[in-house]
Amino acid sequence: MQKKYTLRLYNTLTRKDKEITPSDNKTIRMYTCGPTIYDFSHIGNFRTFLFEDVLRRTLEMFSFPLVQVMNLTDIDDKTIRGAIAKKIPLKSYTDQFKEAFFQDLATLRIERAEEYPEATQYIKQMIEMVEVLLKKGFAYTDAEGSVYFAISKFKEYGKLSHLDLSTLREGASGRVAKDEYEKEGVADFVLWKAYSKERDGDVFWESPWGKGRPGWHLECSVMAKHLLGDTIDLHAGGVDLIFPHHENEIAQSEAATGKIFALHWAHAKHLLVDHKKMSKSLGNFYTLRDLLAKGFIPSSIRYFLISTHYRTQLNFTFQGVEGATTSVKRIRDFYARLQDGTAGPASSKVNTLVDTTEDMFCTALASDLNISEALAALFDFIRHGNALLDENKASPHDIFLMKRCMEKVDSVLAVLQPDDERIPEEIETLLHQREVARKQKNWKQSDTLRDSLKEKGFLVEDTPQGQRVSRCMHILVQESSFTDDNA
Ligand code: AMP
Ligand code: ZN
Repeated sequence: MQKKYTLRLYNTLTRKDKEITPSDNKTIRMYTCGPTIYDFSHIGNFRTFLFEDVLRRTLEMFSFPLVQVMNLTDIDDKTIRGAIAKKIPLKSYTDQFKEAFFQDLATLRIERAEEYPEATQYIKQMIEMVEVLLKKGFAYTDAEGSVYFAISKFKEYGKLSHLDLSTLREGASGRVAKDEYEKEGVADFVLWKAYSKERDGDVFWESPWGKGRPGWHLECSVMAKHLLGDTIDLHAGGVDLIFPHHENEIAQSEAATGKIFALHWAHAKHLLVDHKKMSKSLGNFYTLRDLLAKGFIPSSIRYFLISTHYRTQLNFTFQGVEGATTSVKRIRDFYARLQDGTAGPASSKVNTLVDTTEDMFCTALASDLNISEALAALFDFIRHGNALLDENKASPHDIFLMKRCMEKVDSVLAVLQPDDERIPEEIETLLHQREVARKQKNWKQSDTLRDSLKEKGFLVEDTPQGQRVSRCMHILVQESSFTDDNA
């Protein structure tokens, strides 16, 4: 019988590890704060999104059904400022960066979440939550028609960031209308911002308090509630979101519903440059596209960003990415050797070697995603496997077992497939739709999607780790003759 693994993950709220299991005994519901689509995401942002990808892939490897929601922030001070500067509608401005974000996800082989809601699609529900908060006495309006959350009314304010509010509250600066602010700014925060022509151009929605738009923090509370329910299993993001964003999400959601908002909070530490956070405001950032233009392959960037534990800061250097290229090459070279490996007599060692490797890899990841130990198990395996191949001591069955082990490990690492054989965006979208159909047990739709994928040259297999996709060679041949005919 296959051993069952459960992920124990550090919880920012309790500062202790806890097992991640579905609270409804069915599906783990995970909410991950997504990008603000006002520009290309930088590789610091992708460190966090890749941490969430490793988290997701690990839960899938452990056979936990999972639903992930990642929001796209399309209304905030920055998106509006960008649209006004370019003199184009907000949607035209954000759409280009949304598309770029999805391309970057595919390039880095970040698995698609089940849902990517955009804030502008949930204004009605946001207004409803503000009304509830006003009715329950957690919020108040000001003379301009803005609505604020009164943090003094929510007794547990500060519980996630472990802030001592007794000292801070005395010096608290009243209220803040900005979407982002620093720790020193602990204060009532804006739920609904009254319209200002100068600041917002023509971006506004009607509300019971007049024209305006939602505050940034509100969108996550509302979209998480609508797509995942009042209490979610796991909420993740980068450490900079702990305060104020996640603290404010907790205050809004728990005040509105009276229930615990998220049972578990996981945060990735930052990608640094010269020991400072990589960020747009400091100007010390690289986008994925910048690094690709410098000749780095996507898998090296992926490997570089995932191979340091998510709760350790990671300093960006080009040598670091070059080192990752060497590691990816080692992994691929061994797999290629297995593909065309000449076989000898059966080795008594392979079964144990494969079992031990898989167990060490899973056990390491189960322990707060200990990627260093997981990778150590993989490279030990590659060393032993290479020695067996050197001595011609592996039978076809041994080679099959070793290949399968590499593929299992790669269901989390996702670096085996050569980069130039990346799955096109269109295929990713169909795969995503099929995954959703399967989760909804809509088998007919899932079969139809499988057929259209096949027509487009991609075979899909359903494995315990999820869908596995490969190119069907015969279709590729047909495709090229079609191109010739039309040349
Ligand atoms: P943003 O688009 O700024 O809302 O950020 C999207 C995600 O990237 C959030 O989860 C942030 O916490 C995360 N993030 C921003 N900068 C970094 C960084 N330098 N390293 C790691 N994660 C980051
Ligand atoms: Zn959020």
